[in-house]
Amino acid sequence: MNHLMSKQQNSTDFAAKNWQQQLAEAFSTIEDLCDFLNLSPEDLPASVIASKAFPLRVPLSFAACMEKGNPYDPLLRQVLPIEDELFAYPGFCDDPVGDLPATAQAGVIHKYYGRVLLINTGSCAINCRYCFRRNFPYADLQLSKQKQAAAIDYIKADTSISEVIFSGGDPLLLSDARLANLIEQLDGIAHVKRIRLHSRLPIVLPARITDEFIALLTQSSKQIIMVTHCNHANELSADTIRASHALKRHGVTLFNQAVLLSGVNDNAQILCNLSEALFAQGIIPYYLHLLDKATGTGHFEVSKTQALALMEDIRAQLPGYLVPKLVEECPGATSKQSVD
Ligand SMILES: *Cc1c(COP(=O)(O)O)cnc(C)c1O
Ligand code: SF4
Repeated sequence: MNHLMSKQQNSTDFAAKNWQQQLAEAFSTIEDLCDFLNLSPEDLPASVIASKAFPLRVPLSFAACMEKGNPYDPLLRQVLPIEDELFAYPGFCDDPVGDLPATAQAGVIHKYYGRVLLINTGSCAINCRYCFRRNFPYADLQLSKQKQAAAIDYIKADTSISEVIFSGGDPLLLSDARLANLIEQLDGIAHVKRIRLHSRLPIVLPARITDEFIALLTQSSKQIIMVTHCNHANELSADTIRASHALKRHGVTLFNQAVLLSGVNDNAQILCNLSEALFAQGIIPYYLHLLDKATGTGHFEVSKTQALALMEDIRAQLPGYLVPKLVEECPGATSKQSVD
């Protein structure tokens, strides 16, 4: 009850600000975040050293979904830099998904048949501690405005490409003008049928889903798909519901991908609640990823055996369309691999 009330109160605090302001005011230090949550950093395994390698970044709209005073909050665990990140785990490395060798040219990753990824920006609105990109030199590879023409030519020249995926970083950090321009260019390519956006913003910074943004999507002649990234039902709020409904109402197909994370969602009930809550706001649970083994993320790992047991529990409780596919990313593979 208290939790709900504080959430509503916070929600009115930031609701008046536009998404750019909210982004600029995101928490960037352990102290400020802990203050907001009524926690003291000494009660946590928080690590300033870990935050130097990969900074803390959390929008207020996401922090407002955390339970105040709870050091084990599953949303806090996703964003708080901790000492475990500094330990070396065997088998963990800097480019676990093989994106570097799959980079066709600046900003273009062509590793899945029929689909290309455009890396439009290296940054995100939130820094997730388990991220496979945390050690990746995206700043060097991203598609600058200047290199965009070459990327469009690459897509034009390959008629096997039927889907263009805006990835990142987070593509929704681009301005509406940049996104509109990219979509307009792709509209001119007949063999591209679908444009897909992979973004965590509809969940962590739902103010990004403005009427203007939706209008630029609906102007496209292509089918538009949004793949959100939500790991726990507590990440959803009145604001994420508003954003999802607006997208859905305008014909955007919504899927979610989650990552299976120790201490966050490695529990059948939590995963069932997630599927139910997503579907209630119009999002279909699509993928449940095994962790990509990036340096600094070993403490989030859930074993394959445990993951398969969880899937069995979920299948016993939910209709098939609410059961996500358990998958893993294997370097060099031309598609995601299902785990069974
Ligand atoms: C897996 C993956 C894709 C491709 O997704 P499919 O739905 O399997 O086509 C695109 N982008 C990222 C970042 C992915 O991890
Ligand atoms: S790429 Fe996705 S998982 Fe990684 S930090 Fe950005 S939002 Fe989080």
